[in-house]
Amino acid sequence: MVIFFQGCNHKCQGCFNPDTHPFIKKTEYPAESIIGMHYRSGIEGITVSGGEPFYQRRGLLQLLRSARDVFDLSTVVYTGFSYEKLSESSLCRNIFRYTDVLVDGRFEHSKKEPTTLARGSTNQRFHFLSCKYSASDFIMDGKIELIVGTDGTVTQTGFSKVA
Ligand code: SF4
Repeated sequence: MVIFFQGCNHKCQGCFNPDTHPFIKKTEYPAESIIGMHYRSGIEGITVSGGEPFYQRRGLLQLLRSARDVFDLSTVVYTGFSYEKLSESSLCRNIFRYTDVLVDGRFEHSKKEPTTLARGSTNQRFHFLSCKYSASDFIMDGKIELIVGTDGTVTQTGFSKVA
């Protein structure tokens, strides 16, 4: 299950998800209830992406705690911040206790990931904060999604080898 947070101002050139940038309120739910509303058997874990999850740290903590303690799900979090910067905050260190894998760093278009490793660009790092996963778990099937905007622009997301 992938959960996208709303709001980001990292301004990475070529970001695949600009709809998540505005800091606007959409429909609000208690963090603890989100997984229960959409849970299906067979789900292995949640992946948190964005937007920038660490702009809503208290909600992020509640969400991850719920995933692990209530639903026994694994947790992967993508952030544009660096692990070192986030580690300066005690709240973030608490969030890391409920995070199996943190993938950090802004998306850099000039360093676009050339393989099907699950990261946008090669500067982004995998931090395995528990022993649940290893790097081989992040080599994905080569699947892409094409989004055709109302103005005709086509955006590609997913994982494919860069030609
Ligand atoms: S951190 Fe993620 S959502 Fe934010 S601009 Fe960069 S790629 Fe886009």
